[in-house]
Amino acid sequence: LPRQPAASPLLALDIGGTLIKLVYTASCEGDGGGSDGAELRFAKFERRRLQECFEFIRAKGLLGCNGTRSTNENVLLKATGGGAYKFADDFREKLGVYLDKLDEMDSVVSGANFLLQNIPGAAFTHMNGQRNPVDVSPNNLFPYLLVNIGSGVSILKVTGNRKFERVTGTHIGGGTMFGLAKLLTGCKSYDEFLQLSQKGDNFVLDLIVKDICGELVCQKQGLSTSTLASSFGKVITSKKRLTDYKPEDLASTLLSAFTYNIAQIAFLVASLLGLRRVFFGGSYIRGHKSTMENISFAIDFWSQSQMQAVFLRHEGYLGALGALMSYGD
Ligand code: ADP
Repeated sequence: LPRQPAASPLLALDIGGTLIKLVYTASCEGDGGGSDGAELRFAKFERRRLQECFEFIRAKGLLGCNGTRSTNENVLLKATGGGAYKFADDFREKLGVYLDKLDEMDSVVSGANFLLQNIPGAAFTHMNGQRNPVDVSPNNLFPYLLVNIGSGVSILKVTGNRKFERVTGTHIGGGTMFGLAKLLTGCKSYDEFLQLSQKGDNFVLDLIVKDICGELVCQKQGLSTSTLASSFGKVITSKKRLTDYKPEDLASTLLSAFTYNIAQIAFLVASLLGLRRVFFGGSYIRGHKSTMENISFAIDFWSQSQMQAVFLRHEGYLGALGALMSYGD
């Protein structure tokens, strides 16, 4: 099958467990992007809104300048994520295009390496309220740990361009947290959940060291009084029911429980592999300041400041970016 025609805007997709991510270059409609057409654009849809994604692709003219079905017959789109297999027939039937299916981990690593090596300012730290750019030059970039927090979490050791190993992962990831959040807080969207968490207080539900030992004993033994002992641990001894808790406090507790847990797993894996730099990607982070602050705090705390958590712009689009890059292969 031929590739997507050179004159067309380029489009690549990452169809994950929760979200469909699109990365594309400026379209034929003069959709901005400058004369060289190289500016990248990003869009995402919930996976259950596949039809809206199709409409978007059509409306933006992303399949070619005269995007009629007959000309689309020859179009082969780069696509990654499990949904690239599951929905290939839908793309064929509804848009008349073929999907060229790419390995998900290959794509995520290519996307991360592309951002890190080509986009100045793409990597940054976020600690103590400060966002600072991280200077990554090709000779100090590798090896690094890549923690991609999507519906689940994948943890990869990256040693070079296209050189990586998926070390491990956990099924307790963004999908788990957002699933529980929908049940417990009634939130309708991820952004609503993040906003709720911002207004909440996790200490209403979380058990901290001080609650167990009492402040005086803690001080005598040199324990930090505010250290989390058990996420949601206060609920056990309380007479309150679910509806007695504020959705804000539930959201805040969920976000801190999952974020610290994933950061701790990342720290443990990085320690085992002797890696000092940990890059975080995936839509879980969503550019949310306190999520990045909490990850950074945890990595710094557990590693006694020997490791650094680094975040990426467009962190949710690593797989789709990697897929787009593969048009040049
Ligand atoms: P996947 O490829 O598995 O879909 P992503 O990297 O797209 O993974 O991340 C999905 C996770 O990101 C969700 O489980 C949720 O925690 C979070 N998320 C961010 N934005 C949204 C959104 N608009 N809708 C649902 N979940 C979102």
